Amino acid sequence: MVAERGRILKVYNNVLHVAAEDGVLFCKLRGRVKKGRSDMGLVPGDIVTFERISAGEGVIERIEARTNLLQRPRVANLTQIVITVAAASPDPHPLVVSRFLVLAELSGVKKIVLCVNKMDLCTGDPASYLAEYEAAGYSVLRVSAAGGTGLDDLRAHLAGEISVLAGPSGAGKSSLLNALDPTLALATGVVSEKIGRGRHTTRRAELLPFMGGYVVDTPGFTQQEITDTAPEELSDCFPEFSHHTGCRFAPCSHSHEPDCAVKAAVAAEEISRERYEAYLALLNELRMKRK
Ligand code: GDP
Ligand code: ZN
Repeated sequence: MVAERGRILKVYNNVLHVAAEDGVLFCKLRGRVKKGRSDMGLVPGDIVTFERISAGEGVIERIEARTNLLQRPRVANLTQIVITVAAASPDPHPLVVSRFLVLAELSGVKKIVLCVNKMDLCTGDPASYLAEYEAAGYSVLRVSAAGGTGLDDLRAHLAGEISVLAGPSGAGKSSLLNALDPTLALATGVVSEKIGRGRHTTRRAELLPFMGGYVVDTPGFTQQEITDTAPEELSDCFPEFSHHTGCRFAPCSHSHEPDCAVKAAVAAEEISRERYEAYLALLNELRMKRK
């Protein structure tokens, strides 16, 4: 028999739903691995090799190496993380925005987009504070799940990618997914938040085919703690720092050292002061953890 390749969309009752070229197949694992953990830790996004046993069923032979694995929700091989924050209610705190961007950078997912929702609540011009993220190299999308603005732009960014929306709770991730695909009918809002806590732990993520790619139906990480990261790794999570090399010391933490190229760039307003201050705050946090 000829082995075929496919992508796992969801795992439900030990049945793996695999997207193949001609549609979705229900797959099990080869008998010998079944005795242990029957799903072998396979998660949505995994690419597998399977053999067809009937028109709609297959047996999984092999899992391919993952390019990345997100823990919350557990999904593999993402190509994009859409960090979603609110333009207001709750007001965006620069440290929170940078913290989520750092978490996204650490996930190993290549493309990171910043999506600012609730633009309908924005009276002033938010351009001033968003400009620093654009200057850092991120695409910034201004959208409103409620008003519908910017949704086409978001759709275009999701096309062909395998994306998850992540960011602080209440930013409107579920609302945006619903606005993009009303059939999802995800629970949103304050009340669902409370029920949602318990549900999040049992709910398994699923990849939904979307514009030639996939979007994860469950919002990604909302937690804000950066763990398992050495302080020395933090500056790599600020892409705009990489343009400023030539610090006197190597490695340089860009904090207390003299003749630091990053500090010089901040002074010259080539790097945003807010971003640099977020860096220092997170650096301090990581150093405290190490003690
Ligand atoms: P999540 O925790 O990120 O999934 O956020 P939700 O989708 O549950 O939304 C949180 C709250 O913000 C809900 O009460 C939504 O109705 C509200 N909300 C979401 N998007 C918008 C928007 O574009 N504009 C306004 N004004 N409210 C929104
Ligand atoms: Zn430096």
